[in-house]
Amino acid sequence: MGIAVVGSIGLDTIQTPAGRVHEVLGGSAAYFSLAARHFMPVSVVAVVGDDFPREARALLDQPDVDLGGLEVQEGKTFRWEGVYSDDMNTRATIRTELNVFERFDPQLAQRTRSLRNVFLANIDPVLQRGVLEQLDRPRLVLADTMNYWIRNKRDELMETLKRVRILIINEEEAREVTGEALTHKAARAILSLGPETVVIKQGEHGAFLQGPEVFFTCPAYPIETVIDPTGAGDSFAGGFVGALARMTRVNDHNLRRAVVYGCVLASFAVEGFGVSGLAHANRDAILARAEAIADMTRFSLSDTARILR
Ligand code: AMP
Repeated sequence: MGIAVVGSIGLDTIQTPAGRVHEVLGGSAAYFSLAARHFMPVSVVAVVGDDFPREARALLDQPDVDLGGLEVQEGKTFRWEGVYSDDMNTRATIRTELNVFERFDPQLAQRTRSLRNVFLANIDPVLQRGVLEQLDRPRLVLADTMNYWIRNKRDELMETLKRVRILIINEEEAREVTGEALTHKAARAILSLGPETVVIKQGEHGAFLQGPEVFFTCPAYPIETVIDPTGAGDSFAGGFVGALARMTRVNDHNLRRAVVYGCVLASFAVEGFGVSGLAHANRDAILARAEAIADMTRFSLSDTARILR
């Protein structure tokens, strides 16, 4: 029982109105694993260079995170640098250095091949497919991507999407993939590219889920002090995939609950630089925020018919 994740592990340099950090642990698979481990063990499939600092590895080396599939190759680790606007709603990528990811050819260990759940986190869609092809009998295949891959490897991404059951994607990226200006239309257009369900992440506005028969929207958990939004999307995916993988059936009820856990894990991620915010997530804190969201969104229409003229 567990989730395989392929994605980036790297060193991020991040500037937000709250400050700046230089080469801290980052990457889509790092945030995903540290969020999803609260639900189910995670096996990381990724690569770092021989310059990957011991302190960064220690942050990742947590209970229920299997690092057996984290290869160390000669060369430099993946690096990314981003700067956020004053309201933190937009960020500019200053540089992306793929480094060892450029020649990475993931080879899964036997115990990883038998895992039934896989998350193809944001990374080259060719690598995403490489991992998918090595799994014996995947049940839940979920994926994410970002503008970098939409622009640079569109055809490969389309090929990967044909084999994805649930796509988790940002709203701007959903628009970019489909060419639809309206997010809801973009979501429905994605359903014709392969996925049976899509989850659209909307930053501080939460997320919504669109399937053939279900539509569900969930607000973000309100955080007083946002320090660094980096990794919120990957942490959302960790909460969503982790919760869904724990449930035996993928149905309307369970999909809705998984979105709530996604929003909860994202809320921890933004409370500190890098992965430090996720360190405060634990069973009780996660449950308390999920209950707060249930309370925030609860309402009844009983008796309201009489207020209509
Ligand atoms: P998020 O804020 O959830 O979109 O994810 C941010 C993380 O994505 C950072 O930790 C980056 O290291 C990582 N990242 C940025 N660009 C890429 C890319 N082109 N491929 C893979 N990972 C990336």
